[in-house]
Amino acid sequence: MTGLDVIEVPTGAAARAVFTTRGGGVSAGGFSGLNLGNDPGDPDERIRENRARVCAELGIDPYRVCMGRQVHGAGVREVSGGEGGFLGHLRDWPEGDAMVSAVPGVALAVLGADCLPVLLWRRDIPRVAAAHAGWRGLVGGVLEAAVAALGAPGDTGAAIGPGIGPCCYPVSAEVRDAFAARFGAEVVAGDAVDLAAAARRALLAGGLRDEAVVTVGACTSCAPDRFYSYRRDGAGTGRQAGLVWAEAG
Ligand SMILES: [Zn+2]
Repeated sequence: MTGLDVIEVPTGAAARAVFTTRGGGVSAGGFSGLNLGNDPGDPDERIRENRARVCAELGIDPYRVCMGRQVHGAGVREVSGGEGGFLGHLRDWPEGDAMVSAVPGVALAVLGADCLPVLLWRRDIPRVAAAHAGWRGLVGGVLEAAVAALGAPGDTGAAIGPGIGPCCYPVSAEVRDAFAARFGAEVVAGDAVDLAAAARRALLAGGLRDEAVVTVGACTSCAPDRFYSYRRDGAGTGRQAGLVWAEAG
């Protein structure tokens, strides 16, 4: 045990879904804690140590963790491991805000610091997906695309991870209008939008049952000791992650 502070969501399947926090890492300064991102302001050796600790804590092979270069898009990449993993290279991953995999033991990792990490799993077969979902990705349909890639919405569960809450996320009228048009007026609260509520709408629109979707519900901006927040701290802050994998054997 390395004493990491992680949030694990029960899946009811042979899959595990975990969200990291700042707790337990070796990074310092604005990155203080368990920074799993790839900002060059944090020394690579600290990022590697943090990532190694996560894998040790969770019992996953760091060289079979897959990531994507996150561009706030809606692309889904099918992966099977063998790309160098969490430690092999920190940057220059193939582009894609969402990934899907049917290989047990291959963990999918998405990073966030306000944007939502969203984890999905099939209950009937070993097949999982992970998506990085900020406002652009949500409006662009990244979650509907991830659900479609998994292939059986009625047999899919999902967990919406920590992200910035409507308490801390005022946005432009253009963004509010886009959210209202896409997900309904209920996801707009005053001058803010509710990313997690929009994510749930997107997952249900993709065919998931309401009771199959869990929302962690933590606001990254409200909890500086526990979460990184880009909106709160600007550039030079770290990233937490969501990780999902089908269990081997
Ligand atoms: Zn907040």
